This record gives sequence, structure tokens and C-alpha cells, in this order.
Amino acid sequence: MKIKFLGTNGWFSTATGGTTCAAVVLSDRLIVLDAGEGLYKVPKVAKEGGISKTDIFISHLHLDHTIGLHTLPLFRKGCTVRLLVHKSYVKSLHTLLNHPYTASASQLWAKLDIVPLKQGPNLLPYKVTVLPLRHADPSWGFRFEFDGKTIAYCADTGPCENLARLADKADAFITECALQPGAPELRGWPHLSPEMAAMAAKKAAAKRLVLTHFDAVRYKTLQARLAAEKAAKKIFNSSQAAYDGFVVSI
Ligand SMILES: [Zn+2]
Ligand SMILES: [Zn+2]
Repeated sequence: MKIKFLGTNGWFSTATGGTTCAAVVLSDRLIVLDAGEGLYKVPKVAKEGGISKTDIFISHLHLDHTIGLHTLPLFRKGCTVRLLVHKSYVKSLHTLLNHPYTASASQLWAKLDIVPLKQGPNLLPYKVTVLPLRHADPSWGFRFEFDGKTIAYCADTGPCENLARLADKADAFITECALQPGAPELRGWPHLSPEMAAMAAKKAAAKRLVLTHFDAVRYKTLQARLAAEKAAKKIFNSSQAAYDGFVVSI
């Protein structure tokens, strides 16, 4: 199973990366993790794999996780796209996916459905466990179980207990790294430093940690991301910093 990182910046896109998006390639569908600017690359990944079904999981509605939704018209006829989001965000998502912001669902080539998720386990038909994280607006973490593998994806959050719950013994724990090495906890707008992410991975006994969502201002270069990787490795050795185009095989 491959995980392709298509956007790895937080906040806004720069020459270093686009905003957050990754695609897990399964035999019959793509599982997309957030809809930042990298989302425009997903239809090409689907086409290359001969895959017609795409499930896009949205952690929260901050624009660095949703700005790519205006590229949904790139999905062609015959594609089925589902947007899966915690039920508390369904109404706002309908507002965002309509005029005057972008085309309405009825104007798309692809068939589009919005699927509400509940806290706890959801069967879709694969299993996804949804738990709240700690952020400026509610942000939701996901734990996916399919084809004998477990992937945890925790986007914007400060340190919290649910990180290790979602990542418990996961084959891949993908989480954010908006703060620089050694940064203290941010109170008003919680995020993770590499050390905070690594502590959660260690507590969870995950098999590997992948850092993404590098803040566009704090991480101006890929070199800076390598310093984050190094800081994480001191706590949890199987840590990697993602970049646009990075592929993980599990
Ligand atoms: Zn973000
Ligand atoms: Zn956010």
C-alpha cells in the first residue's frame, strides 16, 4: 500500500510545498487525507491507478485543508467522490461547496456525496475511527483499518491523549508539524512541534511517524524540515519529514 504526499505545507502554499493533502492508494479506491491545494493532483493519481472511487476525509474546515475543493471539477465523468467530514461540519461544507464560492455539486462531472461521520468507529465499508483533537476550531483525527494495515492521520492539533489512541500500534502515523523544534506549546492556536509528535508516536508504539503540514512561515526550506526530522528521531527513531512528491510504502 502506498501513501502519496501531494501537499505538505500548513497555512499557505509556497515554492517549498502546497497545502495539506495525501492519498492512500488502495486496490479499489483512493483515500485522501485533507483537501488542501495538493488535491488538484488526486484525479491524475486516480487515473494512473485506473481507480474511479475517491474518499476525501476532511479534518476541519480551515482553508489550508479545504482550499483544494474548488478543483473538484477535475474529477471526470464516471468518478465517484465522497467527502467525509464530522457531522458538525456538514452544513458549513455545503455552504462552501456552492455559489458564490465555487461550482455547486450538481455542476460537477463526477458524482459527489457528502458523508457525515460520527465520533468513534464508522464502517464505510472499511473501518474509520474518528476522535476529536485540540485546535482553534474543532479538528478531527482518523484511524483507518484496511487490507490488514492501520493508518492514523491527525491534522491540526496540540498535544492530546487522542493522538496516541488513534495511532496505537499503527503501521503509519501521519501528523502535523507546524511548530519548530524546541517550540513551546501554543495556547490560542494549538499545533505540534516535531518533539510533541514524536512523543505521541512513541507512546502509541506506532511503526513509523510521518511529519507533514509544515507551517509556511516557520519552515521556509526543505532543509528546515530535515532539522525537524532529526529532532523527532531523537525521541522516535522511525520518523520522517514529508515533502510534496514523498511516497511511503507500508
Ligand atoms: Zn492547517
Ligand atoms: Zn487548522
